[in-house]
Amino acid sequence: MTRITGATKVAGVVGQPIAHSMSPILHNAWLAAAGLDGVYVPFAVTPEAFAAFVGGLRGGSVAGLNVTVPFKTQALALADTVTERARLAQAANVLVFQADGAILADNTDGLGLLAAFAEQAPGFEPAAAPVAILGAGGAARGAAAAFLSAGATDIRILNRTVARGQELAADLGPGVTAHGLAQADKVFEGVGALINATSAGLSGSAGLDVPISATPATAVVMDMVYKPLITPFLAEARGLGRPTVDGLAMLIGQAIPSFEAFYGQTPPAGVDVRSLAKQALGL
Ligand code: NAP
Repeated sequence: MTRITGATKVAGVVGQPIAHSMSPILHNAWLAAAGLDGVYVPFAVTPEAFAAFVGGLRGGSVAGLNVTVPFKTQALALADTVTERARLAQAANVLVFQADGAILADNTDGLGLLAAFAEQAPGFEPAAAPVAILGAGGAARGAAAAFLSAGATDIRILNRTVARGQELAADLGPGVTAHGLAQADKVFEGVGALINATSAGLSGSAGLDVPISATPATAVVMDMVYKPLITPFLAEARGLGRPTVDGLAMLIGQAIPSFEAFYGQTPPAGVDVRSLAKQALGL
């Protein structure tokens, strides 16, 4: 049980819904193992109250927040300083409240994505082959920006609403192209990775109907959705023998730099937060 003192450093996660967030499990396990006087709590906030909630934390009474659905775009707009990767993603998953009242916005989702590939597909080389990304929201933007920064030169965005993909491609530059989902057969040819950055496949929703079999046999298939952990998309990829990377590895990967931003130190090694999260997911 965490002992709360007068000096306890508070951080948390804000979203709607938030009750099933895995982030408190990860951060509080790290805090306990590090023996830090800190706590990480969930904040359930309505969209109408979000701006006032964030504004009220100016000054650092709360050290920082992770931001999740549906507030990542709004969070970016409320910040005074925005990191380059958050600007490119047009979304913030981290807000840091500075003592002078300023709010810093960052996006660690791209780092989490690359960390997930490094952990679960260790031979994967981001610059070696084209990368196909399904979706054109903040998660897809962050993924494209992260792969560009890791050396990728051919990123193929496939989105249901093609105009949104085109806007993303125009923003990120010549290494990124936009396509419709109907072109997937052709676009998947020769890719080294295929990433689902849409919300399709979340528990209770239908998966995406795309021809994973059109990717090369060695292509790494990744799904950002982690509820269920093995989405229909990942299950199909596994059935085809493709190496896979799951969304929980990305969630843990983005939490590490978030923890550093809030508590000023790296999470302690040796805490099996993946097992704790899987337990909480009922796996
Ligand atoms: P978003 O901005 O709302 O974008 C959603 C995207 O999904 C859009 O491109 C949308 O296409 C597409 N989409 C939704 N339903 C679809 C369907 N039935 N068929 C085809 N396309 C569909 O969301 P986001 O913030 O980018 O997040 C996307 C997903 O990534 C979410 O599930 C989120 O939880 C997950 N995520 C996971 C992590 C992690 O750490 N594992 C981190 C960040 C995000 P249109 O443009 O056509 O509407």
